[in-house]
Amino acid sequence: MVGGGRLYFEGMERTEEKAVKILLQPVQYLKGVGPHRAELLARLGIHYVKDLLFYFPRDYFDLTDYRQISDLEEGKVQSVEGVVDSVEYRLLPGGRTVVSVGLQGKGGYLRGIWFNQPYLRDQFRRGQRVVFSGKPRRGGLIWEMFHPMVQQLGAEEEPQRGLLPLYSLTEGLEQWEVRRIVRTALEVALPGVEDVFPEDYRASHRLLSIQEALRHIHFPPDWPTLELARRRFVYQELLVLQLALAIRRGQQRSFRKAPVFRVTPELDKRIRRLFPFDFTPGQNQAIQEICADLAKPVPMLRLLHGDVGSGKTVVAAYAILVAIAHGYQTALMTPTEVLAQQHMRTFERLLEHSRVRRVLLTGGLSPRERAAVLAQIAAGEADLVIGTHALIQEDVQFHQLGLVIIDEQHKFGVRQRAALKASGQDPHYLVMSATPIPRTLTLTLFGDLDVSTIRDAPPGRQRVYTFLADREHRSQWWEFFREKLREGRQGYVVTPIIEDSEDLDLVSLERAYESLANGELEAFKLALMHGRLSPEQKQAIMQAFRAGEIQVLVCTSVIEVGIDVPNATLMAIENPERFGLAQLHQLRGRISRGRYPGYCCLFPGEELTEQARKRLEAFVSTTDGFELAEKDFELRGPGEIFGTRQHGLPPLFVADLRRDYATLLEARADAQQLVANDPGLANPKFGLLRKQVLARYGKALELAEVA
Ligand code: ADP
Ligand code: MG
Repeated sequence: MVGGGRLYFEGMERTEEKAVKILLQPVQYLKGVGPHRAELLARLGIHYVKDLLFYFPRDYFDLTDYRQISDLEEGKVQSVEGVVDSVEYRLLPGGRTVVSVGLQGKGGYLRGIWFNQPYLRDQFRRGQRVVFSGKPRRGGLIWEMFHPMVQQLGAEEEPQRGLLPLYSLTEGLEQWEVRRIVRTALEVALPGVEDVFPEDYRASHRLLSIQEALRHIHFPPDWPTLELARRRFVYQELLVLQLALAIRRGQQRSFRKAPVFRVTPELDKRIRRLFPFDFTPGQNQAIQEICADLAKPVPMLRLLHGDVGSGKTVVAAYAILVAIAHGYQTALMTPTEVLAQQHMRTFERLLEHSRVRRVLLTGGLSPRERAAVLAQIAAGEADLVIGTHALIQEDVQFHQLGLVIIDEQHKFGVRQRAALKASGQDPHYLVMSATPIPRTLTLTLFGDLDVSTIRDAPPGRQRVYTFLADREHRSQWWEFFREKLREGRQGYVVTPIIEDSEDLDLVSLERAYESLANGELEAFKLALMHGRLSPEQKQAIMQAFRAGEIQVLVCTSVIEVGIDVPNATLMAIENPERFGLAQLHQLRGRISRGRYPGYCCLFPGEELTEQARKRLEAFVSTTDGFELAEKDFELRGPGEIFGTRQHGLPPLFVADLRRDYATLLEARADAQQLVANDPGLANPKFGLLRKQVLARYGKALELAEVA
């Protein structure tokens, strides 16, 4: 299947004058279209003849398998040619109608059956030659097809074979019309389409020419040919993306300068002494990769990902200390205030005996406080600046910024990454993702970054036991919960929404709090925590929770990101089906931080979709974040996990990153090689390809026009 809808069409240049002219004509002037159909086509985004060529089918109907009736099999689409023998019409109880058409064919008899399409009885007459196509079923002694596709054949006419394209339609436009119009467009305009790939490139990469590919994507003779046509477009789409990423990589590294930070053994020793533990092999590996980057005079652009609690912050701290040791300022950006404060505390502890000057810059500061902090930063009197998005606001001027750490990367898009850069500085960048990212996505959405992965966990990590519970397990769970609270542990109760809502049958924060505070957890100290509280309120509550004055936080997913209270080991999640796998994993990560095992109990709503159930079962089955990330990707696809909009990259039209992984790797390797030999893709041979890269990604990825 090919993604329906309009394909981009850039980088076109003329070959055959006439066909080119037609390509660029409004579709209205194409034979068989006219003003009325042109209007309907416009609703599908089809304005010019070229748009028609790139309006790919959303699916195909299989007319490849013609059979004698005696050779039919259940379960797959087959076609049968024959002569109409009888036409029956009946009214069923409840007002339903059924039309039943008997077909006499080679090797037997077959009945086509249609419900609620009474007008069909007038479409057939005895003795007529027809083809029925569909999945046949044994109905007693004879074969039946429900709602088969019909071809009515003239006396000498040959039946259609191959794959019949099915297009996305709009009201008033029929499949056969679009097919006919596309066929006409192919006939008159195809020679005008120029290939972005030179012939030798196509030959060495198993690619159909653009003409062949277009013809076969619309009217493939068989499945293998369709696959070849599809491959051509998938490869092209992924190559264009990978070229853009490779060019961006090159531009960010070759035209920019960043300070050189060398780590001597003495410095390394001095930094390591600050930590009360040895680093894990994964941490050491990441540190090594980062130090190699920092020692080069070009900006580091590195993604650091690892599971919750794998010790990424520690690695970031190491890098920060390296930069500060060289007299540079560093910035640590977080998606929430709570997280900024938590990082601040971590560094306060870590840097207790050092002279590193750190400041917190968040939205909660008064104008006066903010001005004072800004002055400090501008004067170079702050070595480490920790803050939220507020950090990227324009009035923040650094004296000498050497390193930027962005925590919880996927909350930030490409654009935010760019914003810091525009401030006239060229620091090194390290972006951290608290969520393991499926490999496919690190190669696409983060394809311009280098990647360090921490796969291991610090020693002594406790495991978390996860349960998928029914309503009747509730009282049992709360009894267990109370027991653990009495032992001194703390816990979270997570709900998907704050207030009850008429439209959604979900457990709200308020309802959960009311019922727990007056019921199962009456004897304990509860507090509410959610995104609508002011920063001061949140901070006060977290303070009390950390101090153990609050035993249970009833909260929304605001605790998702990075909260670290080792004594909290219990978590109940209401309506977990409302959360994505990555988010659930983040939530569960909150209770695997200390010396005690964690317990996480999921209470799903009544109506679970099949997919939601699968997701929850996957969640229960493993605590390995990388495994979950791959599962999530498989179940939901890239779009939902990382909203492309938020990411700033245009969507892919043909490629399906789940299915086309092999082609992705191929395109990536090819793109890297092309750019390695020719950083600006300046070879005229690839002029069209280059144009397409710029047209499609130039803006999103801020590719400078290179000569
Ligand atoms: P992440 O940012 O990946 O979620 P953190 O860096 O916050 O993880 O580390 C989680 C916890 O593990 C912190 O309490 C940290 O002090 C501790 N930790 C990190 N690295 C180690 C290590 N090598 N040995 C022991 N504890 C560690
Ligand atoms: Mg963290």
